[in-house]
Amino acid sequence: MVLLVGLVVAPVSVRAAGEVNLYSARQEVLIKPLLDLFSQQTGIKVNLVAGRPEALLQRLRSEGRNTPADLLLTVDAGNLNGAMAAGLFQPVRSALLEEAVPAALRDPEGHWFGLSARARVIVYAKERFDPAAVKSYADLAEPALGRKVCIRSSSNVYNQSMVAAMIAHQGVAATEAWVRGLMANLGRPPQGGDRDQINAVAAGQCDLAVVNTYYLGGMLNGSPAERAAAAKVGLIWPDQEGRGTHVNVSGAGVTRHARNLANAVRLLEFLVSEEAQSWYANANYEFPVRAGVDVGETLASWGPFKADDLNLAILGELNPEGVRLMDRAGWR
Ligand code: FE
Repeated sequence: MVLLVGLVVAPVSVRAAGEVNLYSARQEVLIKPLLDLFSQQTGIKVNLVAGRPEALLQRLRSEGRNTPADLLLTVDAGNLNGAMAAGLFQPVRSALLEEAVPAALRDPEGHWFGLSARARVIVYAKERFDPAAVKSYADLAEPALGRKVCIRSSSNVYNQSMVAAMIAHQGVAATEAWVRGLMANLGRPPQGGDRDQINAVAAGQCDLAVVNTYYLGGMLNGSPAERAAAAKVGLIWPDQEGRGTHVNVSGAGVTRHARNLANAVRLLEFLVSEEAQSWYANANYEFPVRAGVDVGETLASWGPFKADDLNLAILGELNPEGVRLMDRAGWR
């Protein structure tokens, strides 16, 4: 029955349905299979331009109203809000999107929608550190902890967004005090990416590090060397008794000058479907934004967690303040 429908419908709808142009800051391997599935199901051709987040933003800006792009997909609410502030998105209403994506993970006016969620967690050295000693981001800045923490530089948007969220919750002064405390507890100067922090903990350079969950998921399922390093660290969900763990998203918005508006919305709706959401979780170890989706063994093994429900749109507004604060407090 299912096969028959597939055979009869798919060839007919191809070509008739038009196309959609996507600028994507996701690696091609992490999006292409989904786009192919979308094309199979709808007959809509997807023209993919993949690039780095900053490069795609710049390209959209300079192309202005002549841009072929209908959709911009990128990572981090900081980048999504940046694109919105630059006037590159248009607001979209879709009951399906509004139902599937929790309010905290999308722009209230529909300029962008989170498509997958990542949490910024603490990892610890299983051999050397008692995870009961650190329960919150605040604990990382306690003088009693000592120089045990590894973290990447302040130029990275993940840290900027984490700091912006803290400013939203507790204000500038308390956040600055936290950053100063964190800097005093660093086991080495900020360097490398999130995977490097996990490797540093595994290698004994630090006992604790702050990383996005999907890097740990990727390493747990990666090369033998990555698996060996990841096996040496455990995961702490920060602030479970308080405001919840800081989360961020990958997400997308319809461009202001989109010519294939309906197809762009349709692609967004497809990307929050159960099928697409489960694929994301299993292929890239990111959390679905949609509830009730099969997340695969790795994510399931980490158990459920309480996420901070701060609306991520606020991270864009507070980003410049956060960057200045990090600079003042000596986070390089
Ligand atoms: Fe990343």
